[in-house]
Amino acid sequence: MDKCSFCGRERKDTNLLIAGISGHICDSCVEQANNILSEEVKKKSTLDLDEITLLRPAEIKKFLDSYVIGQDEAKKFLSVAVYNHYKRLTQDSATSDDDVEIEKSNIILVGETGTGKTLLARTIARMLHVPFTIVDATVLTEAGYVGEDIESVLTRLLQAADYNLEAAQKGIVFIDEIDKIARKGDNPSITRDVSGEGVQQGLLKLLEGSVVNVPPQGGRKHPDQKMIAVDTKNILFVCGGAFDGIERKIGQRLNTQVVGYNASDTRDKVDRSNLLQYIAPQDLKSFGLIPEIIGRLPVLTYLNPLERETLKKILTEPKNSIIKQYMKLFAIDNIELEFEDGVFDFIVNKAVEFKLGARGLRSICETIMMDFMYEMPGKKEGKLEVTLDYAREKIERTNISLLQTG
Ligand code: ADP
Repeated sequence: MDKCSFCGRERKDTNLLIAGISGHICDSCVEQANNILSEEVKKKSTLDLDEITLLRPAEIKKFLDSYVIGQDEAKKFLSVAVYNHYKRLTQDSATSDDDVEIEKSNIILVGETGTGKTLLARTIARMLHVPFTIVDATVLTEAGYVGEDIESVLTRLLQAADYNLEAAQKGIVFIDEIDKIARKGDNPSITRDVSGEGVQQGLLKLLEGSVVNVPPQGGRKHPDQKMIAVDTKNILFVCGGAFDGIERKIGQRLNTQVVGYNASDTRDKVDRSNLLQYIAPQDLKSFGLIPEIIGRLPVLTYLNPLERETLKKILTEPKNSIIKQYMKLFAIDNIELEFEDGVFDFIVNKAVEFKLGARGLRSICETIMMDFMYEMPGKKEGKLEVTLDYAREKIERTNISLLQTG
């Protein structure tokens, strides 16, 4: 008679008995096994956290180095913030008898677009194995206005965590273009500023750590959905923005600040070509962020503009650099890709010439490689060299305005 090899029930006592090579399993044992499995997986994910805390800031930075070129200052700040954040998480669960509570270290990164802000946040999340999401602050509006409610930020995080609430509550949210919700004028009460100060007030609630009711499907299209209460206490927020024109505010501050008998000395030491390195919280305030928000983003750091040398490194050096990706693509078809000397410089020069930054490197490479990618597979195996003449010809024949959208 057929019996479940796990619990011994006979077929007639089960809803379903599944046959294997040398035994059977009943439906309730399958269910139980499934429960054990998910318990184990959950346990493992909390273990991951312990492993993470073992990584020292210098090790975190080293990991970032293999994906992001330069930006040492930002990497250092980010590494320390993340390290402290996870220390704080483990402290939370441990029973500590003193009253010292480590505060959350949300981060704000200031730097031109395309200098690696998103890349840094993405890389950190990759290392930590925690749910990660990117939201664009420009689409957020106060509740009741056209646009997305602030809570949608957490909806995205829940989705990234596959609706695992516990995981989501330890996730990382990258809020891009935070500068776009700066207060528009000095006097906010004259007109309603639905995408400015109102949004900042809304964000504040998330940043400072509170329990927020989140619509799991997002939006207002599903009015009947059951809300999920998400605690943002342990969610790390990384904000990024270009803050166009903030250099002027920094410059003004530096000029007015240097008073006293050795003032001219200090003024001389200021590196005018990269004022961003002197950024301070009060500059964000002059730009239009409310002081409460600035207070909730205690780690402030900057990214450098990308120079030619850096762009060239970005092209070839990171673990998954654009060039390495092409080599891999061609290698799958047994084609060994080579680049003539000067091709990389040519690509970088074009990116600089058209002011495309790092983001443009990819579109320029795509333009050069497109015909090869179309023609080569299945045609010939062996070596393929991309010459400088070939690259030049491809770029010259392209409408550069198309590249600029890349
Ligand atoms: P931002 O968020 O600052 O606007 P991104 O991080 O989205 O810029 O950068 C755009 C792309 O440019 C990235 O996907 C990456 O390929 C490249 N990039 C930018 N800066 C760097 C860098 N410092 N190191 C490596 N790649 C970079």
